[in-house]
Amino acid sequence: MLLEVRELRVEFRTRDGVAHAVNGVSYEVDAGETLAVLGESGSGKSVTAQAVMGILDMPPGRITGGRILFQGQDLLTLKEEERRRIRGAGMAMIFQDALSALNPVISVGDQLGEMFVVHRGMSKKDARAKAVELMERVRIPAAAQRVRDYPHQFSGGMRQRIMIAMALALEPALIIADEPTTALDVTVQAQVMDLLAELQREYHMGLILITHDLGVVADVADRIAVMYAGKIVESAPVRDIYKAPAHPYTRGLLDSIPRLHQKGQELYAIKGLPPNLMNIPPGCSFHPRCPMAQDVCRTDEPPLYEVSGTRGSACHFWRECLDDHDR
Ligand code: SF4
Ligand code: MG
Repeated sequence: MLLEVRELRVEFRTRDGVAHAVNGVSYEVDAGETLAVLGESGSGKSVTAQAVMGILDMPPGRITGGRILFQGQDLLTLKEEERRRIRGAGMAMIFQDALSALNPVISVGDQLGEMFVVHRGMSKKDARAKAVELMERVRIPAAAQRVRDYPHQFSGGMRQRIMIAMALALEPALIIADEPTTALDVTVQAQVMDLLAELQREYHMGLILITHDLGVVADVADRIAVMYAGKIVESAPVRDIYKAPAHPYTRGLLDSIPRLHQKGQELYAIKGLPPNLMNIPPGCSFHPRCPMAQDVCRTDEPPLYEVSGTRGSACHFWRECLDDHDR
């Protein structure tokens, strides 16, 4: 297994109290596999990814439990120097906002090239050639000329392609993409997602795709992990989820995807807000918003029940949820 996250816990100490951002998350990703991690903002999906990347080790964020195994090595026991080496060559991250992730005063060619100078000891000239090659690889037109341009001279979609090129540069085993297409318009979104999926297959990388939009991952993900209040509430192969969700929260997300044949109809949106992470509701943390909630949900926290060999749901009434969908 390429990456195994086991019972991970992360908290943030603030002046107002302790925010429990990640509360026992486990997931895994194999080489060549795409895991979509889904949830609203504040569900812990980005924080989990930042812990994997090792960019969370500073206060106020603190990992308080669990293990992160990357190629069999527990990342949480490594020295910062070893961690940095893995962050450079073993795994890479793509962020939502390329404009703030890229350096505005350095040409994209130099930014791409620097990866090869620093990590591969290449000459500036060879690194420049590699930068052009990468830009062609992510289909930036006229790459040989545009390599001298600065980030703001590119469109949002092209900038996102440059971020993908940066992430791919050292051919990492794992890429984590946090809302990589959220800032783009729908057509460009699909193009960038297709490119990412294509490169992922070609390089046989593991890919973690973090998103709040179940619609964008349907065609590219193998598995989906749905997060709520710092926990995974449903985990399943993508096909199973689309056929019938086994958790009311997943169903809410699924029903929120606009469908062409439903035009004009009001979309079901999950009512209410995600909980305050300093004060997570007892029992099932989703109960204040759940249309299926019963008394037991307010007192007993559901474990991740085994729905099948490859599927889990943290809902006491997952059977009813599945049946309900079939009707
Ligand atoms: Fe809803 Fe209860 Fe299931 Fe939680 S355990 S999702 S409140 S039905
Ligand atoms: Mg986020």
